[in-house]
Amino acid sequence: MDTDILVVGAGPTGLMLANQLARRGLSPLIIDRHAGPARETRALGVQARTLEIYQKLGVVERALELGKIGNGANLWADGKRKGRVPLGDAGRMVTPYPYILILGQDDNERILGDNLGKLGVPIRWNTELVALEQFDDRVRATLKQPDGSTRTIDAAWVAGCDGAHSAVRELNGIAFPGAPYEHVFFVADVAMTGTMVPDEVNVYLWKSGFHLFFPMRGADHWRIVGIVPAELRGRDGLTFDDVVPSVRGEAGSSIAFRSCSWFSTYRIHHRAAARFQDRRCFVLGDAAHIHSPVGAQGMNTGLQDAYNLAWKLALVVAGKADVSLAESYAAERKPIAEWLLQNTDRGFRLIVSDSPLAGLLRTEVLARVAALAMSLKSLQARAFRTVSQTGIEYRGSALSQTLGTLAHDAPQPGDRFPWLKLRLRAGAPIEDLFATLDDAHFHLFAFGANAVPDGMPDFGGLVETHAVPTDPANDAELARVSIPLASTYLVRPDGYIALAGTGVDRAALERYFAERLRVR
Ligand SMILES: Cc1cc2nc3c(=O)[nH]c(=O)nc-3n(C[C@H](O)[C@H](O)[C@H](O)COP(=O)(O)OP(=O)(O)OC[C@H]3O[C@@H](n4cnc5c(N)ncnc54)[C@H](O)[C@@H]3O)c2cc1C
Repeated sequence: MDTDILVVGAGPTGLMLANQLARRGLSPLIIDRHAGPARETRALGVQARTLEIYQKLGVVERALELGKIGNGANLWADGKRKGRVPLGDAGRMVTPYPYILILGQDDNERILGDNLGKLGVPIRWNTELVALEQFDDRVRATLKQPDGSTRTIDAAWVAGCDGAHSAVRELNGIAFPGAPYEHVFFVADVAMTGTMVPDEVNVYLWKSGFHLFFPMRGADHWRIVGIVPAELRGRDGLTFDDVVPSVRGEAGSSIAFRSCSWFSTYRIHHRAAARFQDRRCFVLGDAAHIHSPVGAQGMNTGLQDAYNLAWKLALVVAGKADVSLAESYAAERKPIAEWLLQNTDRGFRLIVSDSPLAGLLRTEVLARVAALAMSLKSLQARAFRTVSQTGIEYRGSALSQTLGTLAHDAPQPGDRFPWLKLRLRAGAPIEDLFATLDDAHFHLFAFGANAVPDGMPDFGGLVETHAVPTDPANDAELARVSIPLASTYLVRPDGYIALAGTGVDRAALERYFAERLRVR
């Protein structure tokens, strides 16, 4: 075998996967057909759940240093500011990162690539996957090398992180049903001044469409996203100057452009792969799902795919778990992609529709209703959880199990374990668990009257146990997130609740590891 895992593609998804595998002691082979890292910004919004993972990876400080924090979004209609959607307040108790970080995809890739280098994994640029053959115990991959020659290698597993035109997906004959949207989009990175609220996202809704303004690093630096005006559709070689009249006409005459450093047009598709796994090959990120940019979910979803698969595949490759554990990647992530596709599609159709009724809805109703709705705390909280991806759950997964009873408002198996600050030992200082607990282990928490089960095995060093003492500060913190005082929670390495309830004893845990995780 030449490698345990061949990662095809060094975009954000492949880089995240390779980082996570390397941290877990594996040496993946990561290839990309391009000559080096992408220089285009492309995706811009880094969501809270991604920042939580960046924290575990040790790169969150760098991301925060390079990015710009967006605390809110302002809604404009027909040139007037109709409302503001605050982000910070709604997520303050949910995550250490209650905002959207505006940080270009190129910077994200640089951060992940540098970290991968530190972990000792080089990226093989100018190397393209051109053929695949699957066997029971391996995949034979043909790679086109930088000098144009081809080489055949054997990999135990292949991860297709190779974007929308994925070779891994196509060579496995996995269908990619869906369709393109009729509209053509433009993106422009511009130095400019105007009516936009500084350092916040500004959404301009118009009868004929929309323009999004994202604040970028540096003074007066904005990313504009919009629809190419109908009269320009189908024209080749469009430049920023061609769309300036529509931006100026819609976002106001007070706009002054100084320069444009990047302009691109693109057509968006909405598609999801029919399968996320074919025997020893997986597809992740854009190779598995593409959708509209509404909500800045695309890049983040790929990063979460990688985080979901990495710990499972690492255990399988190490011989500590059965292959069925890796199969749960597809079972957990495909429904998330489908949900996302449906919802971004719905929102997207409304903001791009050309119909006069939709135009009226956008300018007269949508902006007002959104602004009003967002003044309600409960709706703000729900919107934050959705957009930040902290609300993603795998409750229906075979890896999620409730034992005994668990109140319906308590965090359930399959949910992301909440962000807590607890004293883990009597007399010890209070810790931020997201900052201090590692993601290489399962963590078993026994709260309140529930003791750690007697003679608890650590399943070959996989599980760390915490008998959380009862004291006023701990009890108040647990009550805040509705964790019952007498309960036990087992948290997976990727931060999701595996098992929870009141009836967790040694035998139940052994059964869970043997039957659900298939840990050997
Ligand atoms: C103009 C534009 C603007 C966008 N704006 C946003 C946005 O605002 N928000 C958002 O969330 N998303 C946005 N996106 C989407 C976002 O860029 C993608 O979701 C993200 O890049 C997905 O990452 P990925 O790693 O899965 O795939 P990619 O970034 O596409 O990376 C795939 C990699 O695989 C390599 N590769 C492909 N085939 C092979 C092969 N056969 N062998 C070896 N290597 C191969 C490619 O060279 C590439 O480096 C935008 C996309 C575009 C094009």
